[in-house]
Amino acid sequence: MSIKENIEHIRREIKEVCNRVNREYDEVTLIGVTKTIDCERIRQALDDKIDHVGENKVQEIMNKYEEIKDAKIHMIGHLQTNKVKYIIDKVSLIHSLDRLSLAKEINKRAKQHGIIMDTLVQVNVANEDTKFGLKVEEVERFLEEIRDMENIRVLGLMTIAPYEEDSENVRIYFKELKNIFEELKNKDYSNVHMKYLSMGMTNDYKVAIEEGTNFVRIGTGIFGERNYYK
Ligand SMILES: *Cc1c(COP(=O)(O)O)cnc(C)c1O
Repeated sequence: MSIKENIEHIRREIKEVCNRVNREYDEVTLIGVTKTIDCERIRQALDDKIDHVGENKVQEIMNKYEEIKDAKIHMIGHLQTNKVKYIIDKVSLIHSLDRLSLAKEINKRAKQHGIIMDTLVQVNVANEDTKFGLKVEEVERFLEEIRDMENIRVLGLMTIAPYEEDSENVRIYFKELKNIFEELKNKDYSNVHMKYLSMGMTNDYKVAIEEGTNFVRIGTGIFGERNYYK
């Protein structure tokens, strides 16, 4: 299938799931994950109405910036503190806020640019050694620690579920993130507005929509298998 057909297929599926669980289609934003994808193929996706792209490496955002800057750029990968300065004025949402040192650096750089940086806190719900993110029990304390950072805004939570052949097996993690999200809505921090969940990739986005996600991050489903693992 072509990139265009893939995008149409996924949009249809998103609509279908939204209808089934009584959600509005426009509550779910499709992020085309363009990591390792060359600019020509990204261009095709942008022409086919992908207006949000996700990248997981700062260097790739820099290299592709001219091509992707008309879309909203989402930083979805692990972010090294010393690289924040390169992307602070280029991305619209950082999905991978996961530690105090990173929050401090984002806050500092955002202040220098006179902006407020929107972020999601990454949570390692399944507690996997191989994944970044705060543990569930660390999230509230973290929000407490960054509550006075005026140039950071936390708009929600993100997670990467473990890979499971049967996506039903990750439903528990999505449910858990949604529960934490709802609990944190009751907290009163001036720079935290729990509005968005970012969960769901090619293999598990339908389950994630059923469980309330607002961003689905889809690479393989749009561009096919990546040539090398990143
Ligand atoms: C690569 C990646 C995706 C997309 O994964 P696919 O399975 O190709 O859809 C989503 N989120 C993050 C954080 C990623 O690194």
